[in-house]
Amino acid sequence: HGIRRQEMLNKPPRIGAKKVDAEQRKQHFDEIYRPLAKCDAGYESERCLSCAQKAWCNWTCPLHNAIPDFIRLVNEGKIIEAAELCHQSSSLPEICGRVCPQDRLCEGACTLKNEGGSVAIGNLERYITDTALATGWRPTIGEVVPRKERVAVIGAGPAGLGCADILARAGVQVDVFDRHPEIGGLLTFGIPPFKLDKNILAVRREIFSEMGIRFHLNQEVGRDIAFNELVDIYDAVFLGVGTYGLMAAGLEGETLPGVIQALPFLIASTREVMGLEEVAEYPLTEIKGKRVVVLGGGDTAMDCLRTAIRRGAASVTCAYRRDEQSMPGSKKEVGNAREEGVEFQFNVQPRVIQSNRKGQVSAIGLIRTEMGEPGPDGRRRPQPVAGSEFELPADVLIMAFGFQAHDMPWLRGNGIALDRWGQICTGGKDRGTTQTSNDKVFAGGDAVHGADLVVTAMVAGRQAAQEMLTLFKRKEEA
Ligand code: FAD
Ligand code: SF4
Repeated sequence: HGIRRQEMLNKPPRIGAKKVDAEQRKQHFDEIYRPLAKCDAGYESERCLSCAQKAWCNWTCPLHNAIPDFIRLVNEGKIIEAAELCHQSSSLPEICGRVCPQDRLCEGACTLKNEGGSVAIGNLERYITDTALATGWRPTIGEVVPRKERVAVIGAGPAGLGCADILARAGVQVDVFDRHPEIGGLLTFGIPPFKLDKNILAVRREIFSEMGIRFHLNQEVGRDIAFNELVDIYDAVFLGVGTYGLMAAGLEGETLPGVIQALPFLIASTREVMGLEEVAEYPLTEIKGKRVVVLGGGDTAMDCLRTAIRRGAASVTCAYRRDEQSMPGSKKEVGNAREEGVEFQFNVQPRVIQSNRKGQVSAIGLIRTEMGEPGPDGRRRPQPVAGSEFELPADVLIMAFGFQAHDMPWLRGNGIALDRWGQICTGGKDRGTTQTSNDKVFAGGDAVHGADLVVTAMVAGRQAAQEMLTLFKRKEEA
């Protein structure tokens, strides 16, 4: 890369991964970020100041990745060593490098944030693992002494995979059950392909299978397999079942044809891109030439908007009740949506869903809002502005209000406590551990802490595995 430290002293700007031009990327579902070129990886690694003990990036990374160390290895051209280091603290580094909201996590704490821009940590993490895997390198587990214990993991999302990874590396036999035909949970059937190529999960499935993890796909616990049987047969069970309860807006007209929920819309779209057949649970909505409005302002809303663009909508509008600064999702994704042609209506609250003569949705009635005084939690709440009502025409209205815990009748009668929102309680009063009120059952990820992030789900799964191992060793010693 030829850039010497002396030349870097004037704080050269961040380059980061290049994006496919917006007009071009709207035509397909391929990832929009190009891989970091070798010279750019070298350049970014040279920008890192190696802040040593003051390296806040690895504190703000929920996995506490050894960021300055793997960046130094990139700088020295030691990619395999860097990949090995990444895998010590993460089960899916190339995936986090793609989908983490780095601006809120590792890169948000970079010393260079306001001096040329944060080092492109996410891009480098992706570069390291993608490059190492492309050479044929695999994160093997080496010499592992097999243990006698067996663990059932329910859910092959990032929480379940994080748990299975640590257990397999410790010699435990792991069986992972998932109702979907591919591993990944929301990584596969949620996050759209333009953010995360689905082949990456297929490669990960091969890697995990080579490590000895056994996947039982298209298997729904509570329908195809009884939960009680798993608890009886296995030494421990991990629940990484996510959170899939849909939030209703409580609006008149919410059940009209043309009003659809975000997640089934995204799943149907991704299934089609993956070449899977359409199923009744996830019907494909015709978007071509339609006026699409998405209600909501988080990452899920951005994914719906950008999927609608790629499916040929005539217009795509995001209606969000707060201002742009208050949007809960990644700023990067809002910027990408805007570049691709999404229109934004900020400070608007839905009032009523209108229908046409055929009984289909035709518009959403909105009222403008202004931010009120901060509430007890310090967050300012939007207040409607009298007389500011207006209508936005819509042929398809997508509800993207987030998720809540779904009902799991099969959990009942097993001594597993749920909180008042239906989320699984872990760790007793302080919630510090992942053990549920049934000693044999552990839980983590969205099912416990509510809808959050890939990286936090993985942290919980890995923690659960460590706690199970401690329990197994304690039993062995007793
Ligand atoms: P999940 O990923 O939901 O996995 C749970 C798995 O359990 C699923 O595969 C499910 O099929 C399986 N399961 C459930 N019940 C059963 C059962 N009874 N039997 C068998 N299997 C079962 N986070 C980010 O960090 N970055 C992003 O860009 C991002 N974008 C997102 C976009 C969308 C549209 C959505 C919905 C979420 C997004 N998230 C993002 C959030 C992130 O995907 C989740 O926080 C994370 O996947 C949670 O991991 P998990 O393992 O707890 O659950
Ligand atoms: Fe940053 Fe996420 Fe990687 Fe941690 S896991 S270093 S937060 S991209």
